[in-house]
Amino acid sequence: MADRDDDAEAPQRSDSWRLDAGPEARASTASRERGPVPRASGHALASRPAPDDSCPAADSIHAAAASGRDEPSRDTAVAAAQSGEPGPLATPAPRKRLELRRAADLAALPLAPADRARDAEAAASFHVKAPRRYLELIDWADERDPIRRQVIPSAEELVHDPREREDPIGDAAHSPVPRLTHRYPDRVLLYPTYQCAVYCRHCFRKESLADDDAATYTIDTLEPALAYIAEHPEIREVILTGGDPLILANERLEELRRRIEAIGHVRLLRLHTRIPVVLPERINPGLVAALKGRLMVCVVTHFNHAREITEATVAAARTLREAGFMLLNQTVLLKGVNDDAEALRTLFRELVYALGIRPYYLHHCDSTRGLSHFRTTIDRGLELMTALRGHISGLCLPHYVLDLPGGDGKIPLGPSYVAARSGFEWKFKTYDARTRDYSEIVTENPPRDR
Ligand SMILES: *Cc1c(COP(=O)(O)O)cnc(C)c1O
Repeated sequence: MADRDDDAEAPQRSDSWRLDAGPEARASTASRERGPVPRASGHALASRPAPDDSCPAADSIHAAAASGRDEPSRDTAVAAAQSGEPGPLATPAPRKRLELRRAADLAALPLAPADRARDAEAAASFHVKAPRRYLELIDWADERDPIRRQVIPSAEELVHDPREREDPIGDAAHSPVPRLTHRYPDRVLLYPTYQCAVYCRHCFRKESLADDDAATYTIDTLEPALAYIAEHPEIREVILTGGDPLILANERLEELRRRIEAIGHVRLLRLHTRIPVVLPERINPGLVAALKGRLMVCVVTHFNHAREITEATVAAARTLREAGFMLLNQTVLLKGVNDDAEALRTLFRELVYALGIRPYYLHHCDSTRGLSHFRTTIDRGLELMTALRGHISGLCLPHYVLDLPGGDGKIPLGPSYVAARSGFEWKFKTYDARTRDYSEIVTENPPRDR
């Protein structure tokens, strides 16, 4: 909370995600910092650079990586920043050749030398990677940039609290066969790959990821999991997660989708993915064709801040919506990124109004090792939820949940609007902090003891 309150006093900070900045203020800030704002759009979208230098297309992510055609080069903005000179960096973010595929690439980013030494140590403890277009959204002049905090390693990650865990939500405790977690009666998690397009510093599964896993993927690795699903008629929903399932090429996804839909009792295919956020160009017609079939399809994205909403993500969401897919989003509540009522209100509104994506869960930060610097208290989360409900459309309101350590499942955290009750006499809190009595109209059953 303190972080963000301080931030409110820094007028040079981007207003593009601020709720109370009027459309003009937001548009002018956005155009100064992020390029032109699309005309006739009432919202303040960050504008990504034109897709001239080919973001790796759907099926060639690995080919691009292997060919090295995106190797970092030191353009003047980056070089100036490294030498500490006040280069063009001081204003807009550098536009070209930002690269973050491995820890060594940190050296070419405009980080303060002091940070680089500390961060290098943290980088060694967990994969480092982010697509260039996502890095381009960072305001490097701002140490607390919400996108930067999600992808640039920080020495704080090396602080391990003994109460934190390697497997924070018990994925392994409920894994009857490899690459599958069956916690709830009617739905399973399936992990086709443990590789991602971006490695989020706040990842709850950071200790199970493998950066080159998709390279060796074949459907064979999923045969035991597919057999398990076929043997369990209670499973109605298969959730592809990982890793990021959209790392896989369209043909592989289509093969997997066909295998899953051949299991008659499965009704819905869900994909948990960050690719629409960090690599929206990956969302192409071939992907839609690969996923479309007998099953209802639900894509669950992972936006944490309104600054991640750009023209390219709007286009990606439109493609998925037009395909008829259900679109939901999960956000992780992160200190220093989005633990701020205005930031969350703007994020959840823009998800609905700009992207047509319904906020689904706001996750309390898990007990993963090395995430203490990101973790708020539950009280703070409840306070933020109170600042949302009623103040923004119910369409924009996620459930605030905690995943219990050990695999006991998700707990809806509230807040509760019950101030008191006695029998059928209730006292409720209203969204604007008044208290109101309510007598339940009960005609048959006598009041039960509570
Ligand atoms: C979160 C989770 C799910 C999905 O839960 P929903 O409430 O349906 O979104 C399924 N399985 C496991 C193990 C989970 O952690």
